[in-house]
Amino acid sequence: MKDTTAALYIVATPIGNLADISARAIEVLSSVDVIAAEDTRHSKYLLQHHGIETSTISLHEHNEQQRSELLLTRIAAGESIALISDAGTPLISDPGYRLVNMAREQGIKVIPIPGACAVIAALSASGLSAERFAFEGFLPPKSTARRQALQSLENEPRTLIFYESPKRMVASLQDMLTVFGGERKACLARELTKMFETIVTLPLAELVDVVINDANHQKGEIVLLVEGQSTVVDRDEAEEVRVLQILLDEVPLKQAAAITASILGIKKNKAYEMALKLQQK
Ligand code: SAM
Repeated sequence: MKDTTAALYIVATPIGNLADISARAIEVLSSVDVIAAEDTRHSKYLLQHHGIETSTISLHEHNEQQRSELLLTRIAAGESIALISDAGTPLISDPGYRLVNMAREQGIKVIPIPGACAVIAALSASGLSAERFAFEGFLPPKSTARRQALQSLENEPRTLIFYESPKRMVASLQDMLTVFGGERKACLARELTKMFETIVTLPLAELVDVVINDANHQKGEIVLLVEGQSTVVDRDEAEEVRVLQILLDEVPLKQAAAITASILGIKKNKAYEMALKLQQK
């Protein structure tokens, strides 16, 4: 008997380890009328592994528009359909955006069945701040465009996350080193959930060295993460800036620095340098 109501289910599948699929995802995939898969042959293995016998239909970047129209007509007629991609969460650097967008515009129910996603898996184990992050997908393949893309992110305070192909990983890391500098921490997360899973977090200069000197690091599926530009002004520094700013409106710079230094017990030349920076803003 059918357990799913007429709707479009967006179902996350594993990113490597076949066990990383939820009980609910298996239930939905087993009971929908049809599964729209990025590559039906690729997904056959996963479906067979979990004893799912539902028929599949392809939906990939080249037929998405026309397939979406067909699938939405079927849902409107009462069928339930699941969308899966080759790995992880559909739409995350994978097809499905047009289908979901059209479904919502037509008032069709869209139900997410969450699960594995390489961005989140990498971020959660990277040791970099997960408080705020920006997922940038794949960087441009050519170096000039890639550097431009990275330059536009130079002052981004959030943790940056990229998908990268093993072929371009070294070149991308070298461009990151040029744009962000050697001290920024970065993480290489490769082959997540698989046998050769590797997660290395180091300052960019060291990470580039490690990767260049170990060919194994240049293989498999890869997520690169870079710490955001540090905007953390510690509380003491915030107080120093506040006092300096008040004084700079009233007295000359040198005097403002001297008074701030004696009020807050900090070194005069530190206060002086901060005052100079504030005045240049
Ligand atoms: N939809 C997928 C998701 O939710 O993560 C991503 C699909 S995207 C076409 C494929 C890219 O995701 C790979 O090139 C790699 O950058 C990253 N990726 C997928 N699986 C991975 C894994 N097991 N380990 C590291 N990166 C992975």
